[in-house]
Amino acid sequence: LENRLKEMEYKVPKKYPDVVFLNYKDRKRIMVTGGAGFVGSHLVDRLLLEGHEVIVVDNFFTGRKLNVIHWMGHQNFELIHHDIVNPLFIEVDQIYHLASPASPPHYMFNPVKTIKTNTIGTINVLGLAKRVGARVLIASTSEVYGDPEVHPQKETYWGHVNPIGPRACYDEAKRVSETLAYSYQKQESVPVRVARIFNTYGPRMHMNDGRVVSNFIIQALQGEDITVYGSGKQTRSFQYVTDLVDGLVKLMNSNYSLPVNLGNPDEHTIDEFATIILGMVGGSSRVVYKDAVEDDPQRRRPDITRANEQLNWAPLVPLSRGIQKTVKYFREELERSADSQKN
Ligand code: NAD
Ligand code: UDP
Ligand code: UDP
Repeated sequence: LENRLKEMEYKVPKKYPDVVFLNYKDRKRIMVTGGAGFVGSHLVDRLLLEGHEVIVVDNFFTGRKLNVIHWMGHQNFELIHHDIVNPLFIEVDQIYHLASPASPPHYMFNPVKTIKTNTIGTINVLGLAKRVGARVLIASTSEVYGDPEVHPQKETYWGHVNPIGPRACYDEAKRVSETLAYSYQKQESVPVRVARIFNTYGPRMHMNDGRVVSNFIIQALQGEDITVYGSGKQTRSFQYVTDLVDGLVKLMNSNYSLPVNLGNPDEHTIDEFATIILGMVGGSSRVVYKDAVEDDPQRRRPDITRANEQLNWAPLVPLSRGIQKTVKYFREELERSADSQKN
């Protein structure tokens, strides 16, 4: 099955997808908070294709029904419109807790709400897990390392975060989310897994989320200027979404409970990245330099030794192939929105 899924790279199947039906004893009831978002919807595809029952809990702040529409009406799929800041009482075996805005413009839009989602929301998820005996995977982030003084970042690094800067609502809330997970594990014996996710891209990224991948591709497709913030010498390491999903599932089902970095160590400066995208999309865009972003981390690359050793995981999709798929997605999205404006 794993090979079959990899071959497909989770291409969204036609309605109704050819799912595996597991024996009752192997089938799990799995809740995915934020399951209508970018990463969550790919995870939902994978879990349903494996034959599990999936319950998506989402308030549609940045997610949308379209991301999971191909599963509507399927007997193993349920979609609950719910804000995780409010308590929720359902029965499940596993919980992937992904609910949270993820791109800087989205999480800065309402900083207090970002904090509530990642603290009160996480308490509700852990409280639910405690009541029903479920295992919880927390989607943490490389942002817990802040603007790192150690490179590449290992899980043992404690980070360098400005607690009152513009990114703090996200960074510090995710740090508390991790602390909550380990407190519930220690005090209440809730089994937890913590994934520290590094920059991820792919189809179903939000068009206007302001992240570098979506911005550069859309700018290149529309022949607009490519906007590099600051010197362009800052670095990021980009992983394709199906690689991340594979790591999340492996981590959830492993016996390993400490935080694990999931990312692709292939590191590029933002300047290089602009050139790569322009080269792949073509067109006549120019690269222009804008003001630097406050507290922008200057270097970021995961050390993935732990994921490798503990989960036998490594990313497989090279940047060129992943970007190709993402460009195709954004091209179709732009056509779709142009069509809907015409009509
Ligand atoms: P996304 O914005 O596409 O998805 C987040 C989802 O959570 C959306 O569907 C949104 O509607 C939902 N949501 C937000 N607040 C909620 C609330 N209060 N109650 C219920 N649902 C809520 O973002 P994504 O890129 O898919 O990120 C998913 C998770 O992975 C997030 O927790 C994010 O912090 C983490 N992460 C992502 C990246 C990345 O590069 N994409 C990197 C590090 C960590
Ligand atoms: N909670 C929830 N669903 C459940 C169980 C608990 O949403 O199935 C919420 C509950 O409302 C509480 C939080 O999770 O606010 C933490 O629960 P816990 O049992 O740890 O704390 P307590 O209820 O004792 O404050
Ligand atoms: N960035 C950029 N131009 C853009 C969007 C982002 O130069 O149009 C830069 C941004 O300043 C940061 C990097 O690209 O250095 C990655 O930004 P993104 O918002 O994608 O993710 P994060 O900062 O959370 O890693």
